[in-house]
Amino acid sequence: MSRKTNRTVYLNGEYLPEGEAKVSIFDRGFLMADGVYEVTSVLGGKLLDFDGHAVRLERSLGELDMAAPISKEDLLEGHRELVRLNDINDGMIYLQITRGAPDDRDFVFPDPNETPSTIVLFTQNKPGMADSPVAKVGLKVISIEDQRWGRRDIKTVQLLYPSMGKMMAKAAGVDDAWLVEDGVVTEGTSNNAYIVKGGKIITRHLSNEILHGITRKAVLRFAREAQMEVEERAFTIEEAQGADEAFITSASTFVMPVVEVDGAAVGTGTPGPVAARLREIYLEESRKAAI
Ligand code: PMP
Repeated sequence: MSRKTNRTVYLNGEYLPEGEAKVSIFDRGFLMADGVYEVTSVLGGKLLDFDGHAVRLERSLGELDMAAPISKEDLLEGHRELVRLNDINDGMIYLQITRGAPDDRDFVFPDPNETPSTIVLFTQNKPGMADSPVAKVGLKVISIEDQRWGRRDIKTVQLLYPSMGKMMAKAAGVDDAWLVEDGVVTEGTSNNAYIVKGGKIITRHLSNEILHGITRKAVLRFAREAQMEVEERAFTIEEAQGADEAFITSASTFVMPVVEVDGAAVGTGTPGPVAARLREIYLEESRKAAI
């Protein structure tokens, strides 16, 4: 099998060429999406908000009664070693932990003393990631029904519906989809969603209905520090269409303007000043605090 890339990846304590890293067909991540993940961005060879991701990982594992197979220190070491071995300046580190590979398929969780978790880390190289030209034009989104399960606060690898959402967006000729439940937006397929109205930043409150974005937390903190008004509540698609601005946040897109929702221009239909300012502050502060 020939591959387009030849990264060094991390699998259960070993650094291996990507083509040699193999996981069992009985792995519960493969059979049952019984696993959690994190994506940490790298800018200038340093990790952005590693601590935030490590804390959320621990929470995801705890919510699923999955043992933490690695200490935070070793996890940081693994991230840094992969950045070094793969010479990553800008990009991402993907981390996945599954409940491991028992001897056979069974709905019942295996005994963690007999079945160790599987842990995988790999890099994704994205030179110039922070200078994405998309930030200058913004994204177009459609709304789709949120058909995901009820524990979206746990960052599981169960990403089929978000994948389908991205495909629905693609088929509609736009960039992404916002998920709607009970008439209000939950979040984007792989990001948190925001609108700006009269200078106020509005984003859905935290609950089991959305992922507690690491970028969301940082951006809301920076916004408040900059004396911007923040309201954490659900909003409708109609409200988004009538807003002055809209944007999304995620670890890999940072703050990204949204300029169209279901075919209607948001504000002027171009990226707005609040999103641009938040992107600037987020990138500046995150780079400063990167480790
Ligand atoms: N919501 C969903 C559903 C996501 O998949 C993501 C990205 N993993 C986010 C929000 C943003 O989270 P973060 O800022 O931690 O990347």
